[in-house]
Amino acid sequence: MLQTRPEKNWHSMSADTVFSELKTSMAGISEDEAALRLRTYGPNCLPAPARKGFLRRFFSHFNNLLIYVLLGAALITGLLQHWVDTGVILAVVIVNAIIGFAQEGKAERAMDAIRHMLAPRAAVLRNNQRLTVEGEKLVPGDIVLIEAGDKVPADLRLLKTHGLQVQEAILTGESIPVEKHTDPVNTDTPLGDRSCLAYSGTTVTNGQGVGIVVATAAETEIGHISGMLASVETLTTPLVEQMGFFAKWLALFILAVAALIFAFGLFVLQHNFNELFMAIVGLSVAAIPAGLPAVLTITLAVGAQAMARRNAIVRRLPAIETLGSVSVICTDKTGTLTRNEMCVATVVTGAQRYEVEGEGYEPRGEVMLGNAPVAMSAPNPLQELARVAVLCNDAELRKEEGNWLVEGDPMEGALLAFAAKAGMNSEEVRKLWTRTDIIPFDAQHKFMASLNHNHENHALIAVKGAPEQVLAMCKTYRSEDGGCEPLMETYWRQKTEEVAALGQRVLALATKEVKPEHTVLEHSDVKGTMTLLGLVGLIDPPRQEAITSVAECRGAGIRVKMITGDHVATAKAIGQQIGLQRPNKALTGVDIDNLNDAALAAEVLKVDIFARNRPEHKLRLVTALQAHDMTVAMTGDGVNDAPALKRADVGIAMGRGGTEAAKEASELVLADDNFASIGAAVREGRTVYDNIKKVISWTLPTNAGEASTIIVALLFGMVLPITPIQILWVNLITAVTLGIALAFEPTEENTMHRPPRLRDQPLLTSVLVWHITLVSTLFLCGVFGIYTYAIQQHYSLELARTMAMNTLVVMEIFHLFFIRNMYGTSLTWKAVRGTKVVWMAVIMVTLGQFAITYVPLLQEVFATEAVPLFDGILIVAIGVALFAIIEIEKQMRIRLSRQTQSFTARENS
Ligand code: ATP
Repeated sequence: MLQTRPEKNWHSMSADTVFSELKTSMAGISEDEAALRLRTYGPNCLPAPARKGFLRRFFSHFNNLLIYVLLGAALITGLLQHWVDTGVILAVVIVNAIIGFAQEGKAERAMDAIRHMLAPRAAVLRNNQRLTVEGEKLVPGDIVLIEAGDKVPADLRLLKTHGLQVQEAILTGESIPVEKHTDPVNTDTPLGDRSCLAYSGTTVTNGQGVGIVVATAAETEIGHISGMLASVETLTTPLVEQMGFFAKWLALFILAVAALIFAFGLFVLQHNFNELFMAIVGLSVAAIPAGLPAVLTITLAVGAQAMARRNAIVRRLPAIETLGSVSVICTDKTGTLTRNEMCVATVVTGAQRYEVEGEGYEPRGEVMLGNAPVAMSAPNPLQELARVAVLCNDAELRKEEGNWLVEGDPMEGALLAFAAKAGMNSEEVRKLWTRTDIIPFDAQHKFMASLNHNHENHALIAVKGAPEQVLAMCKTYRSEDGGCEPLMETYWRQKTEEVAALGQRVLALATKEVKPEHTVLEHSDVKGTMTLLGLVGLIDPPRQEAITSVAECRGAGIRVKMITGDHVATAKAIGQQIGLQRPNKALTGVDIDNLNDAALAAEVLKVDIFARNRPEHKLRLVTALQAHDMTVAMTGDGVNDAPALKRADVGIAMGRGGTEAAKEASELVLADDNFASIGAAVREGRTVYDNIKKVISWTLPTNAGEASTIIVALLFGMVLPITPIQILWVNLITAVTLGIALAFEPTEENTMHRPPRLRDQPLLTSVLVWHITLVSTLFLCGVFGIYTYAIQQHYSLELARTMAMNTLVVMEIFHLFFIRNMYGTSLTWKAVRGTKVVWMAVIMVTLGQFAITYVPLLQEVFATEAVPLFDGILIVAIGVALFAIIEIEKQMRIRLSRQTQSFTARENS
């Protein structure tokens, strides 16, 4: 049994009282205690929104126009005492609902699993160690660290704040962020003014904070508000919605046509009511693509799953569709194109340039000056630099199973490893110099500063950041003898360029002593008075798979642009290594500021590298690219990236290094922060779109072919070549097998060799309309052809109909193999070999057809007769002929369009 805790006025208690109430300290609770509390109080998650009940979900599958028609037909055939017909119709209705229900359940489970991958994580202190845990595992008494971009994971009583601002709109409706402090407030202070509490579900917009968890799950303020729980997203996209809408109108149209034909048949042609009625039911079943919306939903779920397997997690389903039409990807550099496994390689001081050895985050390796290692026992200029690197730093290094790992920013982790190589024990230094205040890093200002005091009444400011920023703050630099010399800006700028040109990320470190009374750090404290200690160059190698993926994207007609906060020279060097199209040209944030929107729109197509950018530049770049009608995918991680991510056609957030704010603004989240996953997502997006198109291209001609068979027979007063009950059978058996198989089609080989699809390209293109006409005519010829042949052979009507029905199914199977390769040839070994799903579908249909043709009981129900072997071969031959005709037609069309393309290209050149 989980325990609930009495509500307390945490906001009016002092920090010490909160500690003693929750039996914890600033060091946090132990892992064992956390596990115990988790068992006692339960996981920190809100109850899932209630789902529709089992029966309601099952019966919702009867809420469909075609089902109403069928139920009406079952009623009328029942009244007419045609029990066999009634039984078959009801069986079809029930089997349809069961299949729909099972498929929907499967699709929903798949989506739930994907959503679970997005579970937020939180940084906590347990036993004085910084750890990242799942938000669900937080317990009362945990010490939680929050920073800009985070979603507050539980209700927190704040213990430390540095410029902390939180947006609490979901609780208070107030969209302007409120400042948070640590002082207790009066007991009767209203919710919105309890400045020492941070509420679960609200977003940190600025600064940093440390708080103690006072309430989790349903006990949090957000948990108290019912109806605010996460809503269930329906499985759809605009295209699928459009198709659902289209299918509905088509059904209505077909019913109207069916009614007209019914009236015409009854009054003009004087057909028998019973027969005519069944024929009309058959016509409706044949023509209405009832299964289409369900199959499209499955196609989407399959696509979303495939993307998740490739580390691209879809937050909003419409993105699957948009991804297929992406024509430009704007990507971050650090961690996306590069590995974000940083390592300090170069250090430049006033007089020397050092090379740093070692690998990864292991704090071991020599610092070399020329060919000789520097002896760290003797005083040297690196030590002060290393101390600043440790103090102005939030990361921690941890050894796990023999590997050194970073908790926090990898770049800061690399600085700690370097400090150790320079003989500095970070733990001791941090204990000796306690942090009094900080200015956290933000992408806008590109630096971080900390104020530290030691026990001997000394205080110092430590700064690290982008060289341009830090140089501007410095008046002097540290000379080799430990003194201060006036800053020679050109020298340092030149050194920065040199190191950056190697593809290294360059940081400048600076310091300043201040009076011990100085306890609050302001931006003005670091302006113009700092002493530069040196530059640090960090290598961050490009990801091999990103290089391959960039090449693949280029082949697929997708432009790749790098937008980074890093130095121009570093960006160019990495751009070169990664294989960008134009790595030698770059626009900086300042350049962008100097261009108006029109000029930027003109420039944006000529440049692939945008360096020293601030988040607001991303927004302008997206807009500029969209002005060219391009479909833009944009990556981002910080809280300030949210507007650009929202504006982009596909916003992509980093799953590991990204903030919750960025994830919420995005359509797609990369579980591994890797550019290659974007490439994979685009490929899957194109595949899903192709498969949607394939499902439609297969379904509509099938429906049209079947329906026209009945219409032609009725209008020309002929005997029906396939009985309505047989049509029902064919539709049932093919819908659950062949119809669904296309949802699982793998990516076609040339998928990433085609240019991107235009965003507003209609699905029902003239080619598709032509295909529907051609195939339905061929279906008509095949069915009537074999039927006429059978009658001419003086076969019985039952046998002629059985042959016609089997011909229809065989043609549907061959049509399926044709559709599988819409863009290439179907006559390769790979195409013929098909996939497991396709062959399973074909085997099931074949077994079904053998059963209905040869099993005596079914022969009686469906009025069929065994087909002789020769005629069976003839039926398959008709399928082959259909395949040959449409394949030749496709090849001619492809060749013609290639010729036209090359002709146009020649004309243009
Ligand atoms: P992207 O990920 O977009 O490629 P980035 O991560 O290099 O870019 P930012 O995070 O905006 O871009 O960093 C910009 C610059 O700010 C860096 O080049 C570095 O000089 C400096 N910087 C980055 N992180 C820190 C930090 N934690 N402390 C101090 N300075 C930093």
